[in-house]
Amino acid sequence: CGIVGYVGPGSSLEVLMGGLKRLEYRGYDSAGVAVLDNGGHLGTRKKAGKLGMLSEELAETPIADGHTGIGHTRWATHGGPTDGNAHPHLGDDGKLALIHNGIIENFAELKRELTDAGAEFSSETDTEVAALLVGRLYRETGDLTIALRRAVARLEGAFTLLVVHQDQPGVVVGARRNSPLVVGLGDGENFLGSDVAAFVDHTRRAMEIGQDQIVTIRPGSVEVTDFAGNPVAAREFEIAWDA
Ligand code: GLU
Repeated sequence: CGIVGYVGPGSSLEVLMGGLKRLEYRGYDSAGVAVLDNGGHLGTRKKAGKLGMLSEELAETPIADGHTGIGHTRWATHGGPTDGNAHPHLGDDGKLALIHNGIIENFAELKRELTDAGAEFSSETDTEVAALLVGRLYRETGDLTIALRRAVARLEGAFTLLVVHQDQPGVVVGARRNSPLVVGLGDGENFLGSDVAAFVDHTRRAMEIGQDQIVTIRPGSVEVTDFAGNPVAAREFEIAWDA
């Protein structure tokens, strides 16, 4: 339902939790975060219920903070609103985390295919097929952008997807089809959001991601391509906001 991503020198957890708070107006039933700490380790926490439940969980069983991360508020469509179904979902080696807005229409077919190939599912969501698929494609390609590009070629339906991988600190990759995604342009830091509210506390410069496009953000760069891998010149705009 709500999505935020961050790379830069700041505290990922602060940016993600602040962004999720700003996105609360959209409504949600669960929330979760994934952060790469400075040692290249992926930490995730996710909870059904209000954001306060996630904050409590993070206070009781903290994860190391870092400078790369993704956060999600979920509005359940496939699988009830439980801790296990909350996002992020992980690749099957536990090194990749993925969040998703929307619905993957052909998830049942992909789930059969992945199960036949030995994958194990730990949720009832449509989303987990995407996490397992990108995780496997990353192992084959060693490139998070290429892995996500190959994965979206297999997906039908509506999705905004963000992924991080513990071997790729300082990188968040996003993709969108029939579901919104915007970039927030900072100074030595960049953001992704399902809408500008996700990062409006940090920057007023934004960039639109078009239909069927992939974006790779690093602290000092933003690269946009179409699903075929061709570079795209994205439109920059100023956020008008008075709050
Ligand atoms: N279809 C996904 C799920 O049920 C994502 C829902 C959302 O957009 O939050 O987990």
